[in-house]
Amino acid sequence: MKSSIDITKLEKVRRTASKITARCPACAATGGDKAGVHLFINPETGQFGCAAFPADREHRRKVSAIVGTKGERDPEAERQWRAGRVKVAAAKLEGKQLARAAEAKLASIIAAHPWTEAEVRRDSPEQRLGWLCDPRRFLAALFDPAAVVWTGGKKQSGHARHAARWRSVLDWQEAPEETVGPMVTPATWQPGTLSRSGANVATAPFVVLDFDEFNGKVPTTPEELRQHLAASLAVIRWLREGLAWQLAAILFTGSKSLHAWFHMLPAATLDQLRNTAPAFGIDAGLIGHPEHPCRLPGWIHPKTGRECRVLWLQREQ
Ligand SMILES: [Zn+2]
Repeated sequence: MKSSIDITKLEKVRRTASKITARCPACAATGGDKAGVHLFINPETGQFGCAAFPADREHRRKVSAIVGTKGERDPEAERQWRAGRVKVAAAKLEGKQLARAAEAKLASIIAAHPWTEAEVRRDSPEQRLGWLCDPRRFLAALFDPAAVVWTGGKKQSGHARHAARWRSVLDWQEAPEETVGPMVTPATWQPGTLSRSGANVATAPFVVLDFDEFNGKVPTTPEELRQHLAASLAVIRWLREGLAWQLAAILFTGSKSLHAWFHMLPAATLDQLRNTAPAFGIDAGLIGHPEHPCRLPGWIHPKTGRECRVLWLQREQ
């Protein structure tokens, strides 16, 4: 028997011996079934259904109206469905093109902006880099003395007993060094905050770029790590000199990544950065999340035994 569905119009078609599955066009018309698993068709009988709306006649009618081969076609429903498909495809293509342009650019950026670790240390406006490896001094160098900042372990948040993890930078100066950290956020917080949630952030003076891997390639050998750090420093130099982003600090986390602290960027720049971040070796998940913790200098990374240290810093003026 001839199928009552025009299979050539479907997305994500998969065939097995007993059935055909695809993205349900009725679900897709409202942006649903992105995985493409709702629609099933019996190839023998031509019967079909949507796994998400198994007993819904209206939903089945809509499927017929869009991709059916018999009567009851609805050109408007079909047009909407097509427009939705085009839009999704266009957005995907734009994201890919941006990423590809960034990737193509990366090699020339790295070649044009070499910045060795020794040069970075030499170029740092603040030269007392070892002295800055006291986390209290790092906080004082970047934040206003009256600003409330959080420091602690990732889980030290969300309960009244964590209240003391939020203190003014001035108060942190009085705390014993070993109680300041191991993490901080690039945010300032409302007084009385108990939870490191975005809603409690007072200001986001910095955006921290985590250079953890270039397009999914995690460095494993010492040589790969050396290349990874060199590429990361070149990109940071390009952001600072080529794009005039205001750099505040560069930290080696003690593991496989560098953190670049930049003064806050305009929202539109952050949006663009999110698309291109992976091609530039940057973890996009941190962008726009000032509540996320990152490492403080002076602490030993638990996985490597290496110290988190400052490579470059420009004091807040
Ligand atoms: Zn459906």
